[in-house]
Amino acid sequence: MECELCGIECDCRPANIDGVKMMLCPKCMRHGQRIDTHDKTPISVKKPMLDRIKRPKVKDVYRDMEKELVLDWNELIKKAREKKGLSREELGFKIGERTVTISKIENGDLRPSDKMIEKLEKELEITLFEKVSDISKIPSGSHSRGLTLGDFIKKEE
Ligand SMILES: [Zn+2]
Repeated sequence: MECELCGIECDCRPANIDGVKMMLCPKCMRHGQRIDTHDKTPISVKKPMLDRIKRPKVKDVYRDMEKELVLDWNELIKKAREKKGLSREELGFKIGERTVTISKIENGDLRPSDKMIEKLEKELEITLFEKVSDISKIPSGSHSRGLTLGDFIKKEE
């Protein structure tokens, strides 16, 4: 494309000279007002919604990477509790947690704290933590294990 003012071959851009739109080279651009073709784009691009979603406050408990919660911990807790013939109220009472907390844990809505896990393990005679070293034997790239919350957290770091 040639500059419509000086005629040199250049990467010309639209500009406004006395109300006339012309294609100008960078040198001639100062004679006119550059027409910004991206006018409609807001200066500050809004951040994706994902950033605003409240992240679960479980990050700290993953500091200890030696162990990791088993995949189906909530199912495991529920089944173990039922096996023991305990109601959610009874289990909650035994480990000093509210019934609603037990419900949330069993629904998988709430990840129990490490302390709570220890109590649950003792009370229900189950193992909720698995050694991470066992997991590492699975070749990377294998999706057989599926993604856990821990995987997402590790990716963030
Ligand atoms: Zn020019």
